[in-house]
Amino acid sequence: MTAEELAGRLMAKDRRVSTASVYRALAVLTELGLLHKVSLGEGRTRFELVSAGGEHHHHLVCDRCGRTVTFEDDDLEGAIRKLSERMPYEIDAHEVTLHGTCSACSAGGVSA
Ligand SMILES: [Zn+2]
Ligand SMILES: [Zn+2]
Repeated sequence: MTAEELAGRLMAKDRRVSTASVYRALAVLTELGLLHKVSLGEGRTRFELVSAGGEHHHHLVCDRCGRTVTFEDDDLEGAIRKLSERMPYEIDAHEVTLHGTCSACSAGGVSA
């Protein structure tokens, strides 16, 4: 869900929660690696819980309707690992988000 959606839900339960404090909490959780930030483009960001099992996946985002699907790809993981060996950084984490148009949007042609 987006930070706005989360803030909306929390504020429905407790009026003392401000949007700013939700953003701060999200930033902390993201730093701790408990949340995963997914850029939807146009400055919108979605947050996902990282599952306890440390499941790793990447995202495909439809730029028209915002639908997000996850995928895994061993070749992609291997390519990133190889790349990280050439880089003067120790790569701890990575995220890959592919943008495009989902099948529903490309088939319908009518923007929702
Ligand atoms: Zn779509
Ligand atoms: Zn990966």
